[in-house]
Amino acid sequence: MDALFIEYRDPIFGIVVFFVAVFIIACANYWWGTFKNDKEKNSIEQFIKKFEVVSDANEYKKLLDEFSISSESLGLLAHSFAKSGEYEKAIGIYLIALKKVKNRDEKQYVLCELGKTYFKAGFLRRSSEVFTEALKLYPRNEEALKYLTVIYEQLKEYEKSLEVLDVLEELNVAVEIEKNYVTSLKVLEDENKSDKTKYNELIELAKKDQIVARMLFEFAKEAKLEFDIEILNANTSLDLLWNSDEEILKKSNLPVIQSMLVAKGVEKEIPEKIPFELEVLANLRKNNYTKAGLNFEYTCSSCKGTFPIHFYRCPSCHALKLPYISLILTKNDYEEYYSF
Ligand SMILES: [Zn+2]
Repeated sequence: MDALFIEYRDPIFGIVVFFVAVFIIACANYWWGTFKNDKEKNSIEQFIKKFEVVSDANEYKKLLDEFSISSESLGLLAHSFAKSGEYEKAIGIYLIALKKVKNRDEKQYVLCELGKTYFKAGFLRRSSEVFTEALKLYPRNEEALKYLTVIYEQLKEYEKSLEVLDVLEELNVAVEIEKNYVTSLKVLEDENKSDKTKYNELIELAKKDQIVARMLFEFAKEAKLEFDIEILNANTSLDLLWNSDEEILKKSNLPVIQSMLVAKGVEKEIPEKIPFELEVLANLRKNNYTKAGLNFEYTCSSCKGTFPIHFYRCPSCHALKLPYISLILTKNDYEEYYSF
């Protein structure tokens, strides 16, 4: 015991104890630091995983289905997805909302929005089924009926489209233009009728309706049938007239058509009150400059959207109206390359 007491009082023993203590503290500190870092890392990984679950298409649907999110909130969420073109997500959420709706009004609203989304995404058959379901709740739903007539028109089921237009007519909706258009499509695409029969069936309608007039003019050009261009409103058929044979244009005395003939080098006298672009072209031709041509752009009078190809029904808002035609002066080779 005495020996031990003597060793404890030895200064070398004190130094050894000091270094051992420093070593133990350093090890403990290192271990604590490593443990803390691992804990933080695990915590962040778990936090990120929460968001990874939501980014999975099926998991987010499960989440929305399980949580007590109202059908109104789901409707808003789906609407914003549909607006940004994410139709698959929007459709998925509308289907969840459909399970949660509480009354007929809400069900009808969700069905109509779902039908519109299917329509925008190009699923026409599904869209027609959804709108038909909406009509079972409210047969007087004008919006669903209007969509349904366009869907049947695009599916080339013209008889069904006309039936839906009859229903809209009974609801005092003006559908004369739509009926003329669908009837004309039905006649022109009927494989059992000869070209002459199609022409004869539509010529009287064409005299009353400019959409039908233009459709019949296009058809007559293709089928190489005689067509009285005096029936046409030249301003809504400038492109067709410009690309027509001189022999067809010569049959009209309209200043616009006469100016086209000057621009093509057939006539010499430039008439008054014609579009600026045609006046420039006619003057250039009179001075033997032949490198200029015309191109066209089409603007919807309802939504003001502009497109490079002619349309009867606007590709954006689906309004059935002849578009405003803008003339664009261009180089002749450009015009030939992009000719529609
Ligand atoms: Zn439009």
